[in-house]
Amino acid sequence: MNNSRVTAKQLRQALRKREIVPWYQPVVDANGQVTGVEVLARWLRKGAPRVSPDTFIPLAMEAGLIVPLTRQLMRQTARELSSRVKWLPQPFSVGFNMPAVCLKDSALPLHCRRFLSSFPPFVKLVLEVSERDAAPDLYQAADTLTALIRDGIDVALDDFGTGWANLNLLCRLPLTTIKLDRMFCTGAPGSAESMTAAAAMRLARSLGMRVLAEGVESLAQVRRMRALGASAFQGFYFSPPVSIHRLIWRILPGALGLGGESVRLLGHS
Ligand code: C2E
Ligand code: CA
Ligand code: CA
Repeated sequence: MNNSRVTAKQLRQALRKREIVPWYQPVVDANGQVTGVEVLARWLRKGAPRVSPDTFIPLAMEAGLIVPLTRQLMRQTARELSSRVKWLPQPFSVGFNMPAVCLKDSALPLHCRRFLSSFPPFVKLVLEVSERDAAPDLYQAADTLTALIRDGIDVALDDFGTGWANLNLLCRLPLTTIKLDRMFCTGAPGSAESMTAAAAMRLARSLGMRVLAEGVESLAQVRRMRALGASAFQGFYFSPPVSIHRLIWRILPGALGLGGESVRLLGHS
């Protein structure tokens, strides 16, 4: 993806012109069944090189645009998926990245309720909070997160292992899932990464949390992470992030055994 220079003004215009769109990366369970997606923002510029989220998301944060960007993505995702709900496997979770500043937005519970009201009850909402955010900001959001979990919303700790590896977060935040960063997938068996991953998974599971291994790129990595205790997976081995059309017409039919471009099923290796 090209990382051409962009300005806050261009990003603001892009939001107005609806050029920032949701793409979807499948999440699969230990049997290789698709159980949901993570929504990842893409900036589609006509006739111009693409800009990576690693460029425009930090720019959105700096320019105070991340709250409107996230809201717009939630609205667009609700529109795109709710009109195709009959094609979704059940249950189906939809995850959004929620930086701490979005958690502070007092309208967040309202937007979550609005999102869910577009769907039948088998569609679940997941908020991904990142370990890269400052811990005090996340602690401040604990009450909001607890109330959202009470409303049936899941909270996942994203990028686990990349921030301060603050185990205190696991105790103080009401989390339902940890997403183990992809750096843990690449560690050889017996390496420090792999032993850390195993310890983090044991801890998370004993706290009643589900562990999702991110960034799995090969069957060997999936098997290793599954043996260590991961029960959900996301990564290029299954599928990269894709547009709504590819998700509905290529990925889900394959994953559901209806033909098409299958997400690779673990049992079919
Ligand atoms: P993230 O939330 O950790 O998202 C996962 C990133 O890893 C995505 O990059 C995804 O395309 C990439 N990925 C997934 N599987 C694999 C794999 O098997 N191998 C490798 N090498 N990479 C894999 P992407 O879409 O470029 O996004 C980068 C980051 O930008 C995200 O990391 C997230 O922090 C941020 N981001 C993206 N979309 C949004 C958004 O809508 N809102 C916010 N706040 N942040 C976003
Ligand atoms: Ca994420
Ligand atoms: Ca991540």
